[in-house]
Amino acid sequence: MYHGSCLCGAVTYQVDAPIDSATHCHCTQCRKGHGAAFATYTNVRREHFRFTQGEESVAVFNSSPGVSRTFCRHCGTNLQWFAEHPYPNWLSIALGTLDTPLTNIAQKHINTDSCAAWYRLSDSTSVEMRD
Ligand SMILES: [Zn+2]
Ligand SMILES: [Zn+2]
Repeated sequence: MYHGSCLCGAVTYQVDAPIDSATHCHCTQCRKGHGAAFATYTNVRREHFRFTQGEESVAVFNSSPGVSRTFCRHCGTNLQWFAEHPYPNWLSIALGTLDTPLTNIAQKHINTDSCAAWYRLSDSTSVEMRD
């Protein structure tokens, strides 16, 4: 069981499936939404995720039709990303919100074609281009 929370602590959640990978997304929307060079997510099936506190504080922004980005309405912490199509059964969780220690997970970078020009992608993790 994994636990996570937003910056202010109003929203907490748990994940009851193994978290074994991280995806670093460099698309423009993730960069803007997170105010960072890229956003880091892990993907879990929806039935393995639930809010344990503060679900009423979770706001949703539709960044594209069918694409939802949730965040804490108090502190602005990004929580999730999901797309009705083509991933109706999956949630991407902003991995930086996890409180349970996590080590040795597989990592990959995606949408590196839109990588911020000022960011030097220099780590040794695999790079995968999304077409
Ligand atoms: Zn918060
Ligand atoms: Zn993205």
